[in-house]
Amino acid sequence: MTKQTLSFQAEVAQLLNLVTHSLYSNKEIFLREFISNASDACDKLRFEAINDSGLYETDPELKVKVTFDKDAKTLTITDNGIGMSAQEAIDHLGTIAKSGTKDFVSKLSGDQKADSQLIGQFGVGFYSGFIVADKITVDSRRAGMKTTEGVRWTSGGAGDFEVETIDLAERGTSVTLHLRDDALDYASAWKLKSIIGKYSDHISLPILMEKEEWKDGELINASDEAGGRQPGGMVKTGEWEAANKGNAIWARAKKDITPEQYDEFYKQLSHDFQPPLAHTHNRVEGSTEYTQLLFIPGKAPQDLYNREKSAGVKLYVKRVFIMDDAEALLPTYLRFVKGVVDSADLPLNVSRELLQESRDVKAIREGCTKRVLGMLEDLAKHDKLPEASADGVTDVLSAEDKAEAEANVGKYSKFYAEFGAVLKEGLGEDYANKDRLAKLLRFASSTTDTVTVSLADYKARMKEGQEAIYYITADSAMAAKNSPQLEVFKKKGIEVLLMTDRVDEWALNYLQDFDGAPMQSVAKGAVDLGSLQDETEKKAAEEAAETFKPLLAKLKEALKDKATDVRVTTRLVDSAACLVVQDDGMSTQLARMLKQAGQAAPDVKPVLEVNAEHPLVKKMDGSVHFNDLAHILFDQALLAEGGMPADPAAYVKRVNALLV
Ligand code: ADP
Repeated sequence: MTKQTLSFQAEVAQLLNLVTHSLYSNKEIFLREFISNASDACDKLRFEAINDSGLYETDPELKVKVTFDKDAKTLTITDNGIGMSAQEAIDHLGTIAKSGTKDFVSKLSGDQKADSQLIGQFGVGFYSGFIVADKITVDSRRAGMKTTEGVRWTSGGAGDFEVETIDLAERGTSVTLHLRDDALDYASAWKLKSIIGKYSDHISLPILMEKEEWKDGELINASDEAGGRQPGGMVKTGEWEAANKGNAIWARAKKDITPEQYDEFYKQLSHDFQPPLAHTHNRVEGSTEYTQLLFIPGKAPQDLYNREKSAGVKLYVKRVFIMDDAEALLPTYLRFVKGVVDSADLPLNVSRELLQESRDVKAIREGCTKRVLGMLEDLAKHDKLPEASADGVTDVLSAEDKAEAEANVGKYSKFYAEFGAVLKEGLGEDYANKDRLAKLLRFASSTTDTVTVSLADYKARMKEGQEAIYYITADSAMAAKNSPQLEVFKKKGIEVLLMTDRVDEWALNYLQDFDGAPMQSVAKGAVDLGSLQDETEKKAAEEAAETFKPLLAKLKEALKDKATDVRVTTRLVDSAACLVVQDDGMSTQLARMLKQAGQAAPDVKPVLEVNAEHPLVKKMDGSVHFNDLAHILFDQALLAEGGMPADPAAYVKRVNALLV
């Protein structure tokens, strides 16, 4: 192939511009990205070589080299990993393959801080090189290809890049950054080593740098810029040494790892700029041996609700990287967890299919799930500071414990706001842990606006004589809170949980009761407040049902296409009517949601319940507009719960006719 000039995919061009501007204040991360790519390339080679050892050619020792040339103003990161063919260089460096990138670009706000966080979530990797370089040259040859089949990729980071075929004796990739004038300080061994130590210490491959020594090493002045040495400066010695410690952080003892190191490892692993909310790190021994280091991120990714999305746990076997996103290691509802599992038992050539069937993996999955739930329980426990008790018990906390308690305040709420809806999927997915999950749920309620009410809190506050945990599902917090179905509960001072996540209704199918109390939707079935209702109320309701019989029959006839039944209710106080479904029926919201999502949903024909005390209901019987009023009553009940009349124009016409 002779030299070709190609254009970047439009999104890449846009991203490049943004990356160089947004990440400007955190320039040094480019090195982490390049070393991580180099290390991934070596991991890939090692993995492919399990079945084809010829790929190692004559060079089986995988490594990364970082070199610089002050005079030429270049910095080069070289690896002897898998390398790229010409087509791969075009595909991988000229387009962004990751799904959702367009979506990402459309979310950019122009606000530097917000945008750089977004970038952090997406991990722009390679393109971060243009923060410090005005030109990048990549020389690469894929392992196993001929030495005449190397590729050189060059770009100035504007709209296009060039590719040409070159001869390349060594397999792997060498990336040369032509440093901008304001980034020349990266051509310094000291600087590079400190960045490698900060971001890439855990990389298990050696990251080699050429040893330097002082030319005529005499100390003249400790405050000199060159660290107190005379101007002869440093010279390279031709010897190489590793700039990283190279011990995988998860393989080290917990006590030797600082919180900062955990955070740094997480950032590297997840491409997140924010520290994680929490982590758990354990070596598990017994019939299945493995180490787990798992993190809960502080923020949800864009594609959290995509259940097809890959999981965030990397699998290693005895510190050899096996695969990214090993979905078999955690259930789908914990797909937000990032981390590493290192197994001592699995074979190196394990495939995704094998993972699904392995008994060891099953044990690991159970173990990881337990640990994550344990971590969440811990966060939940410390979400609020313990209330100062009258006897001063909490004051006995040591200063250290107090500081720790304070550091954890609000973390669970933060977690829940980001990931709570996903956690609920677990009720249906993970039967074994259903009870633990139920305790982790939080809701808003008719008496508490924030999403902080646990089922246990609710239960502790139940009124005397109250047997069920009442809840309502709706499309929004506003619709839930003002729903007519809540009226009688408000009047009687009974708390109702407000459920507004899409997944709620589905998830609640799997949670019939909590700690002995049945979960009861206030929009399903007839209201049965049991002993919360007094005798006179019961009697009045029975009488109303009797007196209204003829009216109900007429209403039923008028609405026979819309409602399965019409009955008098005690659940309304201010509203004239509301819709409910049968006890075992699908709610109207869920049916609506399914239809919006293009899925099959039964046509839910609800029950219309009317308030016998309401003036409109009282008046309608003799009205000449009876038929219109009946339809308006029904459509308004639908509107009140966030629905839409089947024929909105007809509704408007009817109302207007009456208004006139
Ligand atoms: P990411 O690493 O997150 O996929 P990057 O932008 O950093 O994104 O890199 C894009 C792709 O380019 C990589 O996925 C990989 O296929 C390829 N690539 C980058 N650096 C190397 C390298 N040193 N060796 C082989 N392939 C590489």
